[in-house]
Amino acid sequence: MLEKKIYSVVCLLLMAIVLSLPVSALSQEKQETHQAATVFSESKGELRQQPADAKSHEIGQSIGRGQGQGQRLRQGQQAQASQQPLPTQNFFKFLFSPKLITMLVIGLLALVLLLTGKMDNRTKIPILVIATFLYGVSANLGLKLFSGFSMHPSPICAFTKPLLYGLRAPMLATLAVILFLTIIGPKLFCSYVCPVGATQELIAMLADKLKIRRRKPSFRLSQTFRVLIFIAFIAFSWSAIIHTIYQGQVRAVSLYDYINAFEGFKWNLQPALLENLFHFLPLILTLAFAFFTYRPYCYFVCPVGLFTNVVEQIAVFRVVKEKHSCNDCQVCVKRSPCPAVSEIIKDAVLVPDCFACTVCTRGCNRDLLKFGR
Ligand code: SF4
Ligand code: SF4
Repeated sequence: MLEKKIYSVVCLLLMAIVLSLPVSALSQEKQETHQAATVFSESKGELRQQPADAKSHEIGQSIGRGQGQGQRLRQGQQAQASQQPLPTQNFFKFLFSPKLITMLVIGLLALVLLLTGKMDNRTKIPILVIATFLYGVSANLGLKLFSGFSMHPSPICAFTKPLLYGLRAPMLATLAVILFLTIIGPKLFCSYVCPVGATQELIAMLADKLKIRRRKPSFRLSQTFRVLIFIAFIAFSWSAIIHTIYQGQVRAVSLYDYINAFEGFKWNLQPALLENLFHFLPLILTLAFAFFTYRPYCYFVCPVGLFTNVVEQIAVFRVVKEKHSCNDCQVCVKRSPCPAVSEIIKDAVLVPDCFACTVCTRGCNRDLLKFGR
């Protein structure tokens, strides 16, 4: 128990550090924007002579005859910055967008169904289908109704792009939703909201119906694989081994860009054959492997899975067992598709990812496993 408490404290500290990053980044951005606005207001007297709707670079060009071109352009950019909303406003704009609000609603609805024992195939399948449709398919239909449901930023982009290009409001808002739904638990974002996760879950249910025997790889193997990919991503990105030239500057390219299953949900064909391969193959392989092993992309590849696995150790709600009545018959372990149940009933310090599939809670003959605090 002491180990578990120490681990929880370490997790909380790490989370506090991670959470403080966005806050400090936002305040830094806010400060920069304010500085730009202040410089702009100093030159306001001259700018008032311009038409109200003049574009910022035009404004910059008309300021002060005899000033250098560079200075004029700078003032134009500052004028533009002063007209933009503050980063914190952007953060809340994205947080309260239809996409993120519906994600919260679906996650919380799933939690209520799990805690009241009402999550079964009749409720689970519609939730998974809706999540796949809303966050994976709808943006491809070109309908105005779903214009706010674009894939960007995908969960992988939300998690990895800030490490490459700095923190931005859409990424932070998406991360905040993922974090919130994972802390409440049990991994509610991955379990019932993520389109790649939901599709794999539906395939797992189909494979069960078709009586396809699925393999259960050891968690040590999948976790090692997932961590190694993440370390490689950091090493490649920060050393810009994989890079692109953008506006004359060398920019690091994320390793996950080549193995991002979320991209496959964007149906636009790429100009080159190789690009199509990188675009669609990760999702195709994920869906194919999902027939033979439970959530292969989540356990082996996804950095969000790695992140939420750390956070889920301190989640408020998760699978718990009635300790004193368990006779260790292992029926739940045999029935479950994941490597988590055996560790849950051992009361292990570190528990593998649980995707709240409800197989173990429904599978215990003595009804000793359930979702609770
Ligand atoms: S681990 Fe990644 S792919 Fe799997 S459900 Fe979570 S975010 Fe989606
Ligand atoms: S079988 Fe139990 S522990 Fe495993 S994913 Fe499903 S609910 Fe979680």
